Order: sequence, then C-alpha cells, then structure tokens
Amino acid sequence: MSTIFDKSKEGKNRYSIPEWGGEYDDPIPETMCRESVPMPDVGEVDVVRHYNGLSRMNFGVDTGMYPLGSCTMKHNPKINDRVAALYGFTDQHPLAGDTLSQGSLEIMYELGNMLCQVTGMSAFSLMPAAGAHGELASVMIIRKYFEKKGEKRNVILIPDSAHGTNPASVMMCGFTVREVPSTSQGDVDVEELKKMVDGDVAAMMLTSPSTLGLFDRNVHVIADILHKAGALFYCDGANLNAVVGRASVSRMGFDIMHVNLHKTFSTPHGGGGPGSGPIGVAAELEPFLPVPVVERSEEGYVLSSDRPHSIGRIHSFYGNFMVMVRAYTYMRMLGAEGLREVADNAVLNANYLRVKLKQHYNLPVDRICMHEFVINDEGMPNHVTTNDIAKRLLDYGYHAPTVYFPLIIPGAMMIEPTETEDKTALDEFIEAMIAIKKEAEESPQLVLDAPQTTPVKRVDAVTAARKPVLQWEE
Ligand SMILES: *Cc1c(COP(=O)(O)O)cnc(C)c1O
Repeated sequence: MSTIFDKSKEGKNRYSIPEWGGEYDDPIPETMCRESVPMPDVGEVDVVRHYNGLSRMNFGVDTGMYPLGSCTMKHNPKINDRVAALYGFTDQHPLAGDTLSQGSLEIMYELGNMLCQVTGMSAFSLMPAAGAHGELASVMIIRKYFEKKGEKRNVILIPDSAHGTNPASVMMCGFTVREVPSTSQGDVDVEELKKMVDGDVAAMMLTSPSTLGLFDRNVHVIADILHKAGALFYCDGANLNAVVGRASVSRMGFDIMHVNLHKTFSTPHGGGGPGSGPIGVAAELEPFLPVPVVERSEEGYVLSSDRPHSIGRIHSFYGNFMVMVRAYTYMRMLGAEGLREVADNAVLNANYLRVKLKQHYNLPVDRICMHEFVINDEGMPNHVTTNDIAKRLLDYGYHAPTVYFPLIIPGAMMIEPTETEDKTALDEFIEAMIAIKKEAEESPQLVLDAPQTTPVKRVDAVTAARKPVLQWEE
C-alpha cells in the first residue's frame, strides 16, 4: 500500500490560485506558514484518487453485512442524512438564541418526547455525546440524588457480563464497583444479588437486553430487591433494537437509563463519532438532569438552565445536534408501527441465525434470544479459534462479529444480524459460517492464515496495541 508521500514529486502543483495583485508578495503571512510540517507535493487529482482508494479498502455497513453484536451496525436510511444536511440545520449558528432556533428546539423537544414514549421514562436529556457519556451523566445524577437525601452510598452493582464502559463510568464518579455473578443461563444470580445489596448500594446497572442478547427473566425481582433497599435501578439501554416499541423500560422497574441514538436510532457510527447517548429518568430524578433543558412556553421553545439541583452542563451548546436530527427523521419515518416492526424483525433475524448456526457451532446459552446471541469456538477442530473464524469471515466479505466479549463466555462471538438484513442475506451468512467450519476440518491452514483477500493481511495485534505508530516519520 502506498502513502500519499509516495506519490509526491517535486514541482507537482499542490494548488493553483490566481496571482496575488496586492501590496504584499505572499497572501499568507510568513508567521502562518507551517514549513516544518512535511507536505506531499501532489496534484488535486492525486489527492482525490488516493483518499477514495483508501476509503474502498475499508469495510462499512454500506459495503456489506456487519453483524457486530452490541453495536447495531444496521442500515442507516439515507433520508436521515438528507434531512440533517438541510441548510436550516447546517447553517444555524449555535449562538443564534432561542427565538431564531425554534425549529431546532422543536426537534429536540419532540425527540425527547418520543424517547419518553418508547421507554416510559418521564424526561430525557439529549446532551450526552455517547453511551459512555450518558452513563457518566447518569451516575452523576445518582450521586446528586443521594447527596440531596443526605445518604452516603458508595457502591454500584454491575453484572459480570457488563460492557466495560459501565465500571469505568462508575469509577470516574468515585463509586466502588461490586460485581454481580450471572447464572449459567445468563440471568443475574438473584440469590447472590440479595446477599450483596445493603445500605452502601446506590444503584445497580443492568444492560437490558443483556450482552448475551438475553432478556433477564427476573428483572422485576431485581428491581424489587434494589428498591426495597432504597437503591436505584439503571438500564444500560445502548441497544434498544429488541424492545423498541414493544416493551417499556420504565415498567421493567428501571429508574434511569441511557439510549444510544447511534445504534438503535440509525446514525452512522463506528468511526469514533459523533454519537449521542440521551439519558432518561423517572420523575423523581428529573430535577437533576443536565442543563440546559428544552422547555415549551407560551412564547415557544426555550433552553432553560433554571434547575438548582442539576448536575450542571456536560456538553457545549446542546450536544451532537445533527445526530438528533437523524434519529428524529428515522422515528418519524417509521412511526410507532414501524418501530415495533424493527424490534420484531431484529429478534426474528437473530433467532433464525441462532437456530441455524447451533447445528454447526457451540451455543453456550441455548434459549430464545433478543436481537443478538453468542456462540463460541468450543469444539472447533485443528485449534481453530474465534479470532481465526473472525479473520476468515473477512475473506467471505463479512465484517466479523464482536469477538471475545462478553468476557463470561470464553472465545465468544457475539452476532447481531439486525432487522435490516433480509432472509437471502442471512442465508448467505449462514453458508459462509458453514463453509468456514468445513475448512477448519479439512483445510485448516486457510482459516489459520486468514484473511487472504483484504488489503492488509493478518496484523500483529499485540505489537499494534503496544507500539502504536501515531506519527508520520520521514
Ligand atoms: C455501545 C455500548 C455502550 C457505550 O456506548 P458508546 O456510545 O460507545 O460510548 C455501553 N453499553 C453497551 C451495552 C453498549 O453496547
């Protein structure tokens, strides 16, 4: 693979602008010239071809099926981008003030309302810029809530199957994590939980559906145990694909939650942002929401910061607004009935794959799943591992599923087909997985040496992580 510097040839035009006719020799003052930064000497056409070429080496959800569990890499309808690109949104100045921002404020207000309807929560803040940011803001709310009540509680319970951001958010807020074990069936171990809940526990964070793609059948029991001890129940709702329009998070017993707009509500993601992780709360936590809050008054929509108990501001202006426009468009295009179908098809697709693949791969927890499920490499012939299978899938034109997560299943492969793949696509994926199993038995080297067809072959992941090359060196 060549870099843009390989294409550099002295004298090739970098740019051509008309001769400067003014009184200075050079339109760019010398103090602003960055001669020390090496620049390739290339023409515009070289630049366009180089970067287009790079983009084609990448795999994206627009390239092929991307069954990355927990991340919901589904098709993002292009109308969302069209709407977010309207001049009224793109050209709006963030300091324009409420009067000149009525349309944008209305979108935020309505999106908050729609999220309340979908989850049953009583209010939402759209400020957090990602799921992890939503968790952090929520844990800050939990802390503030107990401070106001004058209760000292410094422990937050987290199941052993949780996403790594959960304990990270908790620690950043100064709480201690207590890990709750799961049963072999993937539910929270309720008997263990009972022993762990005491007056020090502020809350429990539960991913629902869990990272095994399972709905915890004891969710009400867990909620009761916590509430009786005066603790709060937090839902990591990063991925709502299985329940959107079908089940109320609030009626499951949760008091506070976050949602990832960039997963369930169809915003392109995977490149590190921008995202949006709104948080929803029950009525008694509403006073603690971050400011500003969009309110509706006689004169129209206003951004209000008049909240004495708020945890304060957690993002400049109003979070990642364009992501909200996409989510709003998505929800309005589908409507209530459409959102229910999203959940139905996400669950149907995952179960179809689960039942077909368990004939060929080990399925550690075999029960009806939600939007995703976990298989692993147990019993694979010729020492073929999850990593090898993941790499071989690239040769078949698929992005790999999430691997080695959740940590409670050794060699996990977490598969989330999403509702936007049709039966033909699912059948093709099943065929690829069966073919890889057969290769593992008959010609394992093909799998062990994969990928063969990608621009970059198998990388040394350990060295890449330990000795990252982050700077261009001549
Ligand atoms: C993606 C995810 C998160 C974190 O969301 P980010 O937007 O990546 O910060 C948290 N919990 C679960 C279960 C997730 O899938």
